[in-house]
Amino acid sequence: MSKFDFAPMPNAEGFFGQYGGQLIPPELKKIMDDINRAYEEIRQQPAFQQELDQLFADYVGRPSPIYHARRLSEQLGGAQIHLKREDLNHTGAHKINHCLGEALLAKYMGKTKVLAETGAGQHGVALATACALVGIPCEIHMGQVDIEKEHPNVTKMKILGCKLVPVTRGTATLKDAVDSAFEEYLKDPDNFIYAIGSVVGPHPFPKMVRDFQSIIGREARQQFLDKHGRLPEYISACVGGGSNAIGLFTEFLNDDAVNIVGVEPAGKGLDTKDHSATLTKGKPGEIHGMKCYVLEDENGQPMPVHSIASGLDYPGVGPQHSYLKDLGRVQYESVTDEECLNAFMTLSRVEGIIPALESAHAVAWAMRVAPTLPKDQHILVNLSGRGDKDADYVAGKLGL
Ligand SMILES: *Cc1c(COP(=O)(O)O)cnc(C)c1O
Repeated sequence: MSKFDFAPMPNAEGFFGQYGGQLIPPELKKIMDDINRAYEEIRQQPAFQQELDQLFADYVGRPSPIYHARRLSEQLGGAQIHLKREDLNHTGAHKINHCLGEALLAKYMGKTKVLAETGAGQHGVALATACALVGIPCEIHMGQVDIEKEHPNVTKMKILGCKLVPVTRGTATLKDAVDSAFEEYLKDPDNFIYAIGSVVGPHPFPKMVRDFQSIIGREARQQFLDKHGRLPEYISACVGGGSNAIGLFTEFLNDDAVNIVGVEPAGKGLDTKDHSATLTKGKPGEIHGMKCYVLEDENGQPMPVHSIASGLDYPGVGPQHSYLKDLGRVQYESVTDEECLNAFMTLSRVEGIIPALESAHAVAWAMRVAPTLPKDQHILVNLSGRGDKDADYVAGKLGL
């Protein structure tokens, strides 16, 4: 028995403790409740589960392996570092796990179009992939500024056949893309579905996305037990919205002996304004239809956040993480852009694995603590994605 009291999370109203819920207008609440009802029904259907399991195996390439980073561990001279290789998934990151789930759910619900926004384009590409596979039209809204910055992902989305809608209003970045995609969604919410890209937004999305991602931890826990006959002392993952992290953490929550660590981006430093460490520096508030920790400016508006990893710069965070922080079950740490870059280069040169800048945050944390721990202890790090998308940026930054 765990000393933590984990009632079914979330409760029927979508709350994780005081966090989550549905802070949305009544007409939208009805739509979200419909999605929740359909999800609870469909997830029990053997046909749905079988189809998802089959796609995880044959299409995504699951289970993803756990790799013992021997050379890195030796170099650090302390605990053993192991990587859960979500970077080896089809499309190169964990996002395909929940995008497949959401696309399949859309198909089973008879929806005619899947809608979403994308910032750097990672969610857009994963969703466009899933929709191409499932055979459902997909429409992605993206800020014009981001479109110009993220060429490879924009091209991929076009090739994959999704409709890419450039958004020129406001600052023409992520927030405007969210507003634009949401307006389109509200034109016909009975037939469309909005596919959220992390464990955020109104209930039931934090729950659904978590459920689809929790395959990571189910595999990892069993794989580790099979190989070592025991569990690791530490598990860790980077936290933007928090989907890859909760995906790893869920299966371990009741294992009190396992220390669980979420790693946030400290950007240029926690004492500057240029970071995105929501759980470390924020406070409970509201954003995007949910209650959670939020980084706010002096006027109570979401702060413009920064991280070298564009997938981590979000001023809110999943409600379940907010709850797990207050409960003390998960410890949230942060690493700077500089530490992230160092981990990116070290993992590349010592292990021949180029990580996503997002994932390099979790690696950086492991590199910080490994030397302080004995050699017979184990740290399992979720390597959420590969770094192809970041290679040119890093090379330019370091003058390679
Ligand atoms: C999007 C992304 C993240 C951040 O999203 P979470 O919901 O916090 O997991 C992390 N790693 C990679 C590789 C990503 O693409």
